[in-house]
Amino acid sequence: MTEFELIQRFFTERQSSAPYVALGIGDDCALLSATSTATQLAISTDMLVEGRHFFSGADASLLGHKSLAVNLSDLAAMGAEPKAFTLALALPKVDALWLRGFSEGLFELAAQYGCRLIGGDTTKGPLNICITILGEVPTGQALRRDAAKPGDDIWVSGNVGDARLALAGYLNQHILSDSDLEQSAKRLHAPTPRIALGMALRKLAHAAIDLSDGLTGDLGHILERSNVGATIWCDALPFGPVLAGQERSLQYDFALAGGDDYELCFTAPRESRVGVLNAAKVAATPVTRIGYIEALPGLRLVDINNNPLNFTFKSFDHFQS
Ligand code: ADP
Ligand code: MG
Repeated sequence: MTEFELIQRFFTERQSSAPYVALGIGDDCALLSATSTATQLAISTDMLVEGRHFFSGADASLLGHKSLAVNLSDLAAMGAEPKAFTLALALPKVDALWLRGFSEGLFELAAQYGCRLIGGDTTKGPLNICITILGEVPTGQALRRDAAKPGDDIWVSGNVGDARLALAGYLNQHILSDSDLEQSAKRLHAPTPRIALGMALRKLAHAAIDLSDGLTGDLGHILERSNVGATIWCDALPFGPVLAGQERSLQYDFALAGGDDYELCFTAPRESRVGVLNAAKVAATPVTRIGYIEALPGLRLVDINNNPLNFTFKSFDHFQS
C-alpha cells in the first residue's frame, strides 16, 4: 500500500462536508474559509508517543479516540469550538487492522464534535500520533490561564482521579478488582472532552485549564500566570466513582496529583455562581466548587475543618525522573 492509498483508504472515507473547508486532504495545504471576522482561531498540538503516553499494543480504536480527545480538551479549556484538525502519523508498518480501528475511533469522536480532518503527514517510524487542532472563539472571549482574580471561585468539571487509579492498577502499584479496573480504565482510555461546557463558560469564567497533568500542577499554571494564590478544600473534590471507594490518602493523592482526567478547572467570580450552574446544566456536565482564588501567592490545601494538609505533590513532567 502506498502512502497515498493508505491516506485515501483510512483517512478520507468518512469525511462529511463542512462549509469552512474550501479544500481538504489532497493538495499541499488545506484551505479554510474564516466563518466570521469576529472570531479568533484557537490552535493546539498534542503528541502521543508509544511507551510514553500509551502502552505498546494499546487498543487502536481507543487510541484514535484519545489522540483526538486530548486535543479537543485543549480547545474546551479555551472555550473554543472545534473546526478541523491535521494528523501526523509515524507507523512502524502498514497494519490494515490497526489502521481501521484507529481511524474508526478517531472519526467517531470527530463526527461527534463536527471536527474535520483536513490534512496531515504519514511516515514510517516508531508509533507516534500527533494532532494539531483548530477551533474558533469569539474575539476576546477565550478562557485564558492569566485571567484568574482574587475572590474567584475555583470549579472543576466531572470527577478526578480515576484515570490515575487505573494506571496504578495496570502498573500493579495498587490492587484493583477486575470490575474496578475496567470502570476506571474507561477514564484513562476514553476521556470526554468538555467542549460544550467550555463554550458555555465564555463570558462567565475568568480563567480555565484542562487537567492533563494533575489538578495541583495544572491549577498551579493558572496561579502563576495570573499572579494569584488559592485555597482548595480537599474534601470537596469530586473523586471518580472508583476512587471514591479507596482510602483517603490515595484519594487526595490521585485526585490532586494524578493526570489524564481531561476535566476543566476554571475560576469564576462569585456573582457568576448561578450562571456557572446553568452553563453546567446546558452542557450536561456536572461541576463542583472546590476552593477560591486569593491574592496571597501559593496553593493551600485544607481539609473540611480548614486544617492545612501538608502533602507534597508533584504533577507529571515528562523531563523529570
Ligand atoms: P506533501 O508531501 O506535499 O506534504 P503528502 O504526500 O505528505 O503531501 O500528503 C498528501 C496529502 O495527504 C496532503 O494533503 C496531506 O495533508 C494529506 N495527508 C498525509 N498524511 C495524512 C494523514 N495521516 N491524515 C490525513 N491527511 C494526510
Ligand atoms: Mg508529506
